[in-house]
Amino acid sequence: MPEGHTIHRIAKDHRPLLVFHVPEVSSPQGRFADGAACLDGMTVADIEAYGKHLFYRWDDGTVLHVHLGLFGKFRIHRGSEPPAPGAAVRLRMRTPVATLDLSGPTDCSLGDEVDRERIVARLGPDPLRADADPERFHRRVGRSRAPIGGLLLDQAVIAGVGNVYRAEALFVCGIDPERTGSSLGEDERQALWDTVAAMLRAGVKANRIVTVDRAELGLPPGARHRRGETTYAYKRRVCLRCGSDIRWFPLANRPCYACPGCQR
Ligand SMILES: [Zn+2]
Repeated sequence: MPEGHTIHRIAKDHRPLLVFHVPEVSSPQGRFADGAACLDGMTVADIEAYGKHLFYRWDDGTVLHVHLGLFGKFRIHRGSEPPAPGAAVRLRMRTPVATLDLSGPTDCSLGDEVDRERIVARLGPDPLRADADPERFHRRVGRSRAPIGGLLLDQAVIAGVGNVYRAEALFVCGIDPERTGSSLGEDERQALWDTVAAMLRAGVKANRIVTVDRAELGLPPGARHRRGETTYAYKRRVCLRCGSDIRWFPLANRPCYACPGCQR
């Protein structure tokens, strides 16, 4: 499942290719044929990312909502001659300089600002957005008896966090995923928010997930992390920092990884 950094990166990469352009819109697969016909020939006004949701605004007020879900993927073909679309391409947006193909999304549908508002109203603050209000995160976590490892995956509590950042942010903050939200102090909640925000920002920049501090590995600035040294606890057998066996267990329907030595 793509995490929030992937979605913000897609918005960032798509903006210069689509905004103020009039793409040819089609649905090679056919499942979005009616929607594509509505959008074809109109100007893209804006692209917005919110948590794991993408909103493409068109100049007549139409809003295209895309949620990639588990298997959704965008592909960019640069140049004026894109390859023939595969059978799974739900949506193709083509301009003279690039073609964007979307396949396998959980949602690709048309609506308006009211529909967008309805989706956003269900989401917690997204740390990658300038308008994010961390107080909402503090309130939701502070009064919850659910484990913090579950709360971090709840998009109504904080938007954009997936399974990797959940494990890694809790590791960096030294917090056991099974502690309840209400057991965390204000400083711990703030540290989690700041850590998630920093990890997501680094993910947008690098377009991949790397949570391990270079200095800790003795890598010079700018050096690429070695394979198997990009996370502290996530999907590891032993902790990258202390060598303890990593414990993993289902939490909020996803495997959660934690170090019994580093997280208490
Ligand atoms: Zn450890």
